[in-house]
Amino acid sequence: MFQKILVANRGEIALRVIRACRDLGIQVAVVYSEADRGAPYLELADQAICIGPGPAPESYLKIPRIIAAAEVAGAQAIHPGYGFLSENSKFAEQCRESGIEFIGPPVSAMEKLGNKDKAKELARAARVPTVPGSDGIVTSDEEALRVARAAGYPVLIKAAAGGGGKGMRLVREEAALLPLLHQARAEAEAAFKDGSVFIEKYLERPRHVEVQILGDQYGNVIHLFERDCSLQRRHQKLVEESPAPHLPDSVRQAICEAAVRLAKAAGYYSAGTCEFLVDQQYNFYFIEVNARIQVEHPVTELVTGVDLIREQIRIAAGEKLRYQQADIVQRGCAIEARINAENPEQDFRPSPGTVTVWRPPGGPGVRLDTHVVTGYRVPPNYDSMVAKLLVYQPTRAEACAVMRRALREFIVEGIHTTIPLHRQIFEHPAFLEGRVYTTLIEQEILRPR
Ligand code: ADP
Repeated sequence: MFQKILVANRGEIALRVIRACRDLGIQVAVVYSEADRGAPYLELADQAICIGPGPAPESYLKIPRIIAAAEVAGAQAIHPGYGFLSENSKFAEQCRESGIEFIGPPVSAMEKLGNKDKAKELARAARVPTVPGSDGIVTSDEEALRVARAAGYPVLIKAAAGGGGKGMRLVREEAALLPLLHQARAEAEAAFKDGSVFIEKYLERPRHVEVQILGDQYGNVIHLFERDCSLQRRHQKLVEESPAPHLPDSVRQAICEAAVRLAKAAGYYSAGTCEFLVDQQYNFYFIEVNARIQVEHPVTELVTGVDLIREQIRIAAGEKLRYQQADIVQRGCAIEARINAENPEQDFRPSPGTVTVWRPPGGPGVRLDTHVVTGYRVPPNYDSMVAKLLVYQPTRAEACAVMRRALREFIVEGIHTTIPLHRQIFEHPAFLEGRVYTTLIEQEILRPR
């Protein structure tokens, strides 16, 4: 087992990894940028190393500085968290070339799955259904027109290297296709230095269902069931839960098995997620793999009792998977609400600043993953998520009741947050009935009824 790990991330996920290291009796160092200097979670590590100025390209994305920090700390492994360098295969490769273990999947699997179009190709080869559209990237206007017409409008243009909804454009009619195609390319080029895009049929009111995967370095792969992440705003998740409400068991089983097939086909190990869309007839279609730990992983930890970060660390250290598929049982219901420093009144504009009052909820059935305390200053430089509020109960109705109680207790002043929106969601009949789909928030909650 490693004696010391470097956490190459910030905020709640850095703290989550620090805690896992403590639980395993491993020493832990954490990097920070000047914008995060003095953040209280840094004190919970054994060592904190400044790696540069606030802007991420000068700190959290600077590979040589992070590897140097690991060397200075004497760490044998780096945990990348999510975002930043977590899915960067060059970073993983350079860590391993420097004799430092990258706590994540093998480089070969990251390369196979890093582009959505390549991942879809691999899925098809593994007999996993994908959303119809262009098979691979579209290289000309003519091809785009042909593919979109064959798929039938509306279609969705997506960036091959995409993430965070960037480079995505919904096209409702042919006249709009080419201008939006060029926009999507330009946005993808700017965001990912890769303007490749592909086209998919746009599914109306689908659900987002994803499967948690865990694999070791000896070819053993299991799933830890699914999460429903249908509650989104602008294709970004806001609420995640497990099990997926009203999903027939046969469909759940088929999706989970498809995810394992795909992970095996990619030679995957560590934790990963296969994402699917499910239409109203319960047909499911693979969309992408996230080759990292995800924000919403605690939902799965609550219903399965498996600590995913500890398992990632054990797997990276070369241990065999401690679970077989039959050991994994999905019990009760877990729901997560993402608390972002955003102003719902002003089109969810980021709301950085000093948290003057932070009164977190607690009590039975509540788990709060956050790095924030009273007096904490939310820097403007990074993702706006400040906390993940999770509840765990025997049934979904009870989980919703506990979430309402927790949201009522949760008082934050000094910054705006998404708490008021969550209070609305957990009162909303469609959500309470489990009638979820990806545009529910935009269509039924944010628009005046
Ligand atoms: P990103 O990696 O940028 O987050 P994803 O491919 O994971 O993009 O898709 C994010 C979300 O966009 C999905 O959860 C879903 O809400 C929506 N989406 C993606 N593909 C489609 C599609 N073909 N039809 C309808 N919605 C889609």
